[in-house]
Amino acid sequence: MTTDENMQRQIQELVAYLEMKRNAGLLPESMWVGEGRSQESGVRSQERESGTFHASPSESLQCLRDQIGDCTRCRLHQGRTQLVFGVGNPKAELMFIGEGPGRDEDLQGEPFVGRAGQLLTKIIEAMGMRRGDVYIANVVKCRPPENRNPAPDEIATCSPFLFKQIELIHPKVIVGLGNFAVQTLLATEQKITGLRGRLHLWPSARAKEILNTSIPTESIKLMPTYHPAFLLRNPNMKKPVWEDMKIVLQELGKTLPLK
Ligand code: SF4
Repeated sequence: MTTDENMQRQIQELVAYLEMKRNAGLLPESMWVGEGRSQESGVRSQERESGTFHASPSESLQCLRDQIGDCTRCRLHQGRTQLVFGVGNPKAELMFIGEGPGRDEDLQGEPFVGRAGQLLTKIIEAMGMRRGDVYIANVVKCRPPENRNPAPDEIATCSPFLFKQIELIHPKVIVGLGNFAVQTLLATEQKITGLRGRLHLWPSARAKEILNTSIPTESIKLMPTYHPAFLLRNPNMKKPVWEDMKIVLQELGKTLPLK
C-alpha cells in the first residue's frame, strides 16, 4: 500500500470513527469546559457568576492549556517528551495548522521548529509578518511514534482541543499544511493537489457535524497548501505555495510584499 493509499484509508477510518461516535452520542460537546473553571480566582468566579467575566483570548488559551494538563487521554502520551500546545498571537488573523509534532517539536515543546518549521518561518516573513503575529498549532499535540500518521481515535480524542483553540482565536484565515491536516479539517478524502489554490469556507455543515465543533458554519476561510516538509523534498513546489499565500494576503487585506 502506498503512503497516499494508507493516508486515504486512515482518513476514511477517521470519518467512519467520528460518525460512529457521534451517532452513539459519545462525542463530548466540549472537552474543556467544566474542570478548568475550578482554577479560576475567586474574583473571576464572581465575575463569571455576575455575567461580567470577559476572558481575553490569551487567558482563555491558558485556561485550555491548563485543562489539557499532563494529558493521557490517548496513547500518544506514551512516547512524547513534551506536549506541544501551540504558539503565537492569541488574537492572530492567520493560523497555520499542521498534522502533529515531529522530533524537534517534541523536544522543544513548540510546533514547527525543525527544518520544516524554519521554512514555515521564512514563508511567514516573506508574507510581511513575523512568526509571533500568527498562531501555529497541530491536529494532535503529542508526537506519533516514528512520525507515523495519527490514528483516527487519536485525532478524535485530541482534535477538540484544536477546535477550541480555533474558536478562541477565531482567525480570519487558516492555512492547512499538508494532506493529513487538510483532509482532517475538511473531513474529506480529496487530495491536497485538488484542494489548494483557492479558499474554502470552513467548517462546512458536513465537516462541522462530523468534527463535532461548535465553530459557526463557514465562519472562517481555509487555504490548503503543501506542508513545508514536502517543500524541502520538492523545492519546485514553493511557487504554488507562494501563489496560495498571495491569495491569503489578499483575503487579509494586506499588501503584497515586494519580492
Ligand atoms: Fe492528550 Fe492529544 Fe496528547 Fe493524546 S495527543 S495524549 S489527546 S494531548
